[in-house]
Amino acid sequence: MRADVLIVGGGIAGASAAYFLAPHLSVVLVERETDFGYHSTGRSAAEWTVVRSLGLKRPIVLFGKPFFDAPPRGFASMPLCRPRGNILFAPPGSEAVAEDFIRDAGPLNPTLCEITVDRALEIVPFLRPDVIGRAFYDPDNGEIDVDALYQGFLRGIRSAGGVTRSGVEFLGADRRGERWHTRIGGDTLDVSIIINAAGAWGDVIAERAGVRPLGLDPRRRTALTFDPGFDVKELPPVDDLSTGFYFKPSGATLMVSPGDVTPSAPCDAQPDEFDVATAVDMFERATTLEIRKLSSRWAGLRTFTTDEYPIAGFAADVSGFFWLVGQGGGGIMSSPGLGEFTATLVRGAPWPARALELGLDASQLSPTRLVTASDPPSEAPLHYR
Ligand SMILES: Cc1cc2nc3c(=O)[nH]c(=O)nc-3n(C[C@H](O)[C@H](O)[C@H](O)COP(=O)(O)OP(=O)(O)OC[C@H]3O[C@@H](n4cnc5c(N)ncnc54)[C@H](O)[C@@H]3O)c2cc1C
Repeated sequence: MRADVLIVGGGIAGASAAYFLAPHLSVVLVERETDFGYHSTGRSAAEWTVVRSLGLKRPIVLFGKPFFDAPPRGFASMPLCRPRGNILFAPPGSEAVAEDFIRDAGPLNPTLCEITVDRALEIVPFLRPDVIGRAFYDPDNGEIDVDALYQGFLRGIRSAGGVTRSGVEFLGADRRGERWHTRIGGDTLDVSIIINAAGAWGDVIAERAGVRPLGLDPRRRTALTFDPGFDVKELPPVDDLSTGFYFKPSGATLMVSPGDVTPSAPCDAQPDEFDVATAVDMFERATTLEIRKLSSRWAGLRTFTTDEYPIAGFAADVSGFFWLVGQGGGGIMSSPGLGEFTATLVRGAPWPARALELGLDASQLSPTRLVTASDPPSEAPLHYR
């Protein structure tokens, strides 16, 4: 079998790249699990936020906004992102965190404003006033319909003639001249380019292709939901800037996360009892509600590069190997942008003018950035990166 491009990993990263490439090149996307979206993509909080998308993440997220607002005709039958708003607070004693946040995010986001404790309680009446030192409101935060976005990508790949195969593992690849001879499940496939979109397994894929790993850093994050017994659908997410703890509506339930960032090997992440108990405790301290019975609990991996920003670019050490990794806690909201950048670079098409207007060029996304980086990593706390 032959194709132009093999994409390894059928999460939102691989699906978005395949979606933008399939109209131009022959694409085969392989996913090891039987179910598409089984790992991080199916475990997110579905938020779109620009005020917490710092540094390099900001132009990526802004570049993808028009896709969420006005996707191509027929892509989805419902809105991809609904305005939600977001309350962000720092508890008394954490004023420095609030000061850092508004210093970084304020000038870039004119609609972000400071609100009084009373106003925060008008919006979310069950918040405890004594946990709020300073509070801010971001009207631009949105809730993504992850399923609509992801299924739209998968449908688009197939209707453009791309191949999506689940239950097929990428086992290895050898470079033969200008092409890759790859082993996928029980088959072989000859391709010009391999795109590594394997999330937490990105370094494993590189090693299987003889490419130098990037030192990816998967971190576990825990979430639970419960039924509060009243309508929460229109509430905004509420985030504690000092710890990363947050809660938000998720259908008829409230989702709560302690904001954990526990290092993990690539795996099928499972919630740890201690993290679940911590989430319950943080929620009950921040609000007047009690969590009596959980509706669900889960954990997922958010995978970071060494400078904590995503990579979309060709490996420097081996030709024809493209990295699409390190989306951290923003892989859903950044997928339209990173998917289009990946297709642009793989096709050798001109870099989008709109990305340049947002201050983003291709070199900033290249893995060589990690080798030559002179800037220290962002000092923002890891929980809201
Ligand atoms: C609790 C939580 C909350 C989050 N909240 C948000 C949010 O609000 N907004 C947001 O934008 N992002 C959020 N994220 C982050 C987002 O979920 C991830 O950044 C994104 O899903 C990463 O997508 P991916 O395709 O890179 O990884 P994955 O979805 O993990 O996909 C990678 C795939 O590669 C496959 N694979 C691995 N090895 C092989 C192999 N050898 N052969 C074939 N396939 C292979 C895996 O099976 C996996 O399905 C959150 C994450 C978590 C855990």
